[in-house]
Amino acid sequence: MALTADLEWRVHAVLSRSRANGPGARFVVWTQGCSLQCAGCFNPGTHAATAPAAHTVRDIVAQALAEPDLDGVTVTGGEPLEQPEALGMFLSYVAAAGRGSVVLSGFTRREITANARRRAAVVDADMIITGRYNATLRLASGLRGSANQRYWSRTGRYDAAMFDAVPEAEVLIDSQGTMTVTGVAGPVLPMKEPR
Ligand code: SF4
Repeated sequence: MALTADLEWRVHAVLSRSRANGPGARFVVWTQGCSLQCAGCFNPGTHAATAPAAHTVRDIVAQALAEPDLDGVTVTGGEPLEQPEALGMFLSYVAAAGRGSVVLSGFTRREITANARRRAAVVDADMIITGRYNATLRLASGLRGSANQRYWSRTGRYDAAMFDAVPEAEVLIDSQGTMTVTGVAGPVLPMKEPR
């Protein structure tokens, strides 16, 4: 069966504009589902392979491309490469629109390239930050949770130095007064608190 943008995508949350999830202003997708079990993972709510709501790739593409003046998108998790077809389709639309992409994956570069589905999923990715989170090597800087994680620049659009300036956390307050905290040194999910 041919893949279409109506493909279902288990998504935990999205954030329409963030400055703490990659270079510049970015639309962020937290995928739902991860079986890698890094000790000390601070995203346990994303591990179950059951999404809080049904989404399609088309839904998320429409939201991401509707945002004006973005540098690009960041896809994190959860483990984005546990849904490789949905990730690959999303990234293809983002690339076709001329936007940049950053993917955070617990898989190593070798684990990605050795697997045909994962390899195909990242064809349009500009930058991938790879490797399991290792709490004993905690870094929480440059969008890397731990020092063992590696930058894999696939297109040259982003290089590692560009991540030095990424804030380690941010606090956003929307027009309803809902506070969202995100970033590699804080909760990496949008933590929403009533003001
Ligand atoms: S890959 Fe990411 S989401 Fe999955 S267990 Fe490791 S740190 Fe947590």
